[in-house]
Amino acid sequence: ERRDYDQPEFRQAVHEVLESLEPALDQHSEYLDSRVLERLCEPERQIIFRVPWTDDSGDIQVNRGFRVEFNSALGPYKGGLRFHPSVNLGIIKFLGFEQTLKNALTGLPIGGGKGGSDFDPKGKSDAEVMRFCQSFMTELHRHLGEYTDVPAGDVGVGRREIGYLFGQYKRITNRYESGVLTGKGLNWGGSQVRTEATGYGTVYFVNAMLCDRGDGFDGRRVVVSGSGNVAIYAARKAAELGGTVVAMSDSSGYIVDESGLDLDLVRDIKQTRSGRIKEYAERCDRAKYVDGGTIWEVPCEVALPCASQNELDSQSAAALVRNGVIAVGEGANMPTTPEAVRVFAESGVAFGPGKAANAGGVATSGLEMQQNASRDSWHFDYTDKRLSEIMDDIHTTCRETAEAYGAPGNYVLGANIAGFIKVADTMRDLGVI
Ligand code: NDP
Repeated sequence: ERRDYDQPEFRQAVHEVLESLEPALDQHSEYLDSRVLERLCEPERQIIFRVPWTDDSGDIQVNRGFRVEFNSALGPYKGGLRFHPSVNLGIIKFLGFEQTLKNALTGLPIGGGKGGSDFDPKGKSDAEVMRFCQSFMTELHRHLGEYTDVPAGDVGVGRREIGYLFGQYKRITNRYESGVLTGKGLNWGGSQVRTEATGYGTVYFVNAMLCDRGDGFDGRRVVVSGSGNVAIYAARKAAELGGTVVAMSDSSGYIVDESGLDLDLVRDIKQTRSGRIKEYAERCDRAKYVDGGTIWEVPCEVALPCASQNELDSQSAAALVRNGVIAVGEGANMPTTPEAVRVFAESGVAFGPGKAANAGGVATSGLEMQQNASRDSWHFDYTDKRLSEIMDDIHTTCRETAEAYGAPGNYVLGANIAGFIKVADTMRDLGVI
């Protein structure tokens, strides 16, 4: 704790996990004896590096790059890269820690890692983004490899950035090593469904929680925060299953369309033209735009926070409960504060934590690695079916683990204990490393 005093997000993530592990530690003193907790909370390796690049005016810019190789007990380090001005070591460590347990839950042979930079892609030209990515990879490549460390995208890193990173890796190493990055384009080793996977997977998970209660998305009002990669595909799948998505947001404000959002229009504004969500209300008369404010004031039965960490606090949770929310699924990483999670638990709201509910992205990355290793490419429907089966399995694992440890319906506890036991048992098998 003393070591990480200046990393609040990392401490928050570790604290939440340790708290919910108590029932497992009470029954299994071997984890305490082998100091597995101390080892699990300390990343295996942390790399911080300079990323110099030249902007379009010819001026030299300097950013900071990170890669935290958190845990490789189950397989090569695996986790995304985030390019956002808020990135610092504590944020990357929190994401890497969560990723380790999340990856364990997928059942695939992948360890945990995370990386990124405080580079802000907003307002940068394509050429600037490319030069930045090339400089970033010039340093990072020596730490990567399909059997070592396999990054993917996250906030600010999509298909374009993965392309520039892969191109530079290939150029420097003289190896067409498709399995070194995931989230690639379909022509160069990418997988069907990877783009949709996190959002779709979140909805599959929430649907499984609802089905357990004899319920489903059909006819339900749904609110999705964010309008990035995860949010857009979560909204799409929720609508496909019969839900009505009435509100979405970006970091400036939110839009409400009571008759259900036109999701193609949202996608056109945010993804095709990199615009602002308020343009939706300018182009669609029946919608209203609220500048700032909190999207969680909009009444709904299913809430899907898909934007950023700590975006849903206890006041927002109380408003959602007052307005009749029955299920919440975290598409983003740690979007719900611990106090808000408590509000949902006390009110009997089905709550799917990110490390389970948003594991569909990394699971499909794992499927991309399988396709790369066998030089194969699978069809959309087949890959989507694998994703949906994996999400059902994760849901069952969380539910059964929660029941086994005396907390039925507590998916937070179920996810944390199930992920922990898998990593911890493997770490013990591998000796003191
Ligand atoms: P994107 O960069 O594609 O989108 C992020 C979206 O969130 C943008 O619409 C952004 O708005 C919005 N946003 C950011 N901060 C806020 C805020 N405080 N309030 C409202 N909206 C906000 O990222 P992704 O969709 O890829 O990732 C979103 C979350 O999901 C992150 O937590 C990420 O770690 C997690 N995740 C992503 C996975 C993936 O496969 N992509 C996998 C698993 C988890 P603006 O346009 O204004 O910036």
